[in-house]
Amino acid sequence: MTSTPGTPGAPSSPEEPDAAAAARAPVPPGTGWPGDVATAATPVAHNATEVRELAAGAPTLLELVARQSVCRACPRLVDWREEVARVRRRSFATEQYWGRPIPGWGDDEPEIVIVGLAPAAHGGNRTGRVFTGDRSGDFLFASLYRCGLADSPVSVTAGDGQRLRHTRMAAAVRCAPPANKPTPGERDTCAPWLAEELRRIAPSARVLICLGGFAWQALWPVLRATGYVLPSRRPPFGHGAEAELLPPPGSDARPVLLLGCYHPSQQNTFTGRITPDMLDAIFRRARAYAGLDTTA
Ligand code: SF4
Repeated sequence: MTSTPGTPGAPSSPEEPDAAAAARAPVPPGTGWPGDVATAATPVAHNATEVRELAAGAPTLLELVARQSVCRACPRLVDWREEVARVRRRSFATEQYWGRPIPGWGDDEPEIVIVGLAPAAHGGNRTGRVFTGDRSGDFLFASLYRCGLADSPVSVTAGDGQRLRHTRMAAAVRCAPPANKPTPGERDTCAPWLAEELRRIAPSARVLICLGGFAWQALWPVLRATGYVLPSRRPPFGHGAEAELLPPPGSDARPVLLLGCYHPSQQNTFTGRITPDMLDAIFRRARAYAGLDTTA
């Protein structure tokens, strides 16, 4: 197969120095990448059973996040994320890519949780932080800032000082998939990471915002696994679609509002399917339901 530089599948140069070759590899855990909470000793899941066991057995939310970030349970996605990290896009040719799963990020006791489907190959897979370093993130963070849910209107790198307020972000599938399409099997394998994360933050969570119809669909079985009491039929996805879910019986969690939002993809923002005002309206609705000050 012939390949061009910047295209997944392009081979490294045989003359490439060792240091440059190492920089092309995914970031080893515990080597100083901003926000990397894993270490060389963090246990690694290699299949769906190990994902379930390691997610359920994580003693803290921080350890859960660390375990998410080193997972290798989906061979196709591991190959893809690491190949993209080695080959890189031409415009990011001098950067090291993260090349690992993108863990949950933000407030540890959030009122608002934003769920996307999967990270972008040259966005989160490059920067190591969800929705950071791509055009969707530019649109999203500008709105979060306007609505008082982020410290900065931009989110460029994992070490840029950005901080979410009252808010946490996660992806239903943690690894960048080819063509942005995980398989149903990959989605199901990854689901325990999100279910366990939601379980840990359930005491504070009041609103779950789904970015896009695929995230809306993927979240439903995760919520069931987490213990939320769901209506018998999943409501259709739409921008502003709402469903109030009762908390797991016997838990100290409160009801949560499931809120649909069009994905801020370039396709949607360029065509006006979603506008800044529409996104702001979602976050202001979330603030209001969560009982946060709506004058922000
Ligand atoms: S998609 Fe999820 S389960 Fe699959 S390798 Fe990535 S983190 Fe692990």
